[in-house]
Amino acid sequence: MSCPLCDDTGWKPVEINGVRQVERCECWRTDAGQKRLSTANIPRRYQHCTLANFEAYNDSLKRGVVLAQRVIDSFPGAEGGDRGLLLIGMPGVGKTHLAVAILKKCISDRAAHGLFYTTSDLMALLRSTYTGEEKATESQVLRTMTAADVLVLDDVGRERATEWRDEMLHLIVNTRYSERRLTIFTTNFDIGSDTTDPDTLPCRVGFRVYSRLHEMCEFIHLDAADYRERPPNATVDDLIAMWKVRNKPALPARAARPARAQLRESAARDGKADLRWPGGRAGS
Ligand SMILES: [Zn+2]
Repeated sequence: MSCPLCDDTGWKPVEINGVRQVERCECWRTDAGQKRLSTANIPRRYQHCTLANFEAYNDSLKRGVVLAQRVIDSFPGAEGGDRGLLLIGMPGVGKTHLAVAILKKCISDRAAHGLFYTTSDLMALLRSTYTGEEKATESQVLRTMTAADVLVLDDVGRERATEWRDEMLHLIVNTRYSERRLTIFTTNFDIGSDTTDPDTLPCRVGFRVYSRLHEMCEFIHLDAADYRERPPNATVDDLIAMWKVRNKPALPARAARPARAQLRESAARDGKADLRWPGGRAGS
């Protein structure tokens, strides 16, 4: 069916101050948005995600929706550039759902170039450019990641940290920061206060990247049930009940630290034992 506004040319006539001109027709934007959605690399299990079908049954989830909507409404950002989001929370709380909802809306409504990658998939893609498995070169992949109008980097910090990973992540994050492009991050790792704890976000992504995240993103903690563990036909009440159970930690996080310290001490004792045992570690 042809478009009544532009007769399928993609340009529609408009009159501005009495002068007849043409401008991009809505049908072009919709088509371009649809095409760009299909090439945004959104995993099938998240393709249905929108803000409308996100179950916001507590304050942290409601705040998540408000901030996500704010990001959508202010895209593309004017002078100040686009401020992104860092969604923090345990697995299954809906971080990726919100990130994809933002991405899809920016693509479908504004015909933005958008991309979704988990950080580990992105690192694997970069590695495959060295082996020739991937036709694109490293710099082409990097350019694609830095040039996208919207980029979702999912599950940041999960990937194995190496010097090379640090360099790649820093390059992508830093370039997007300088170019003021919208980036949405999700992570399972909390910020934490112990800067030596290897399972905190600053340690997982490195302090350089972490400080950039602060400058380019609003941080939000989502605290909720693991949506993936819900029973079939779960209602919102079921989710609330699951969330309350999850919220009662069996072991406070702090208790883990003395345990780690004990481990370190016993490892140190083993080390000393080795010194006294010229034949190496007993039993080895
Ligand atoms: Zn049209």
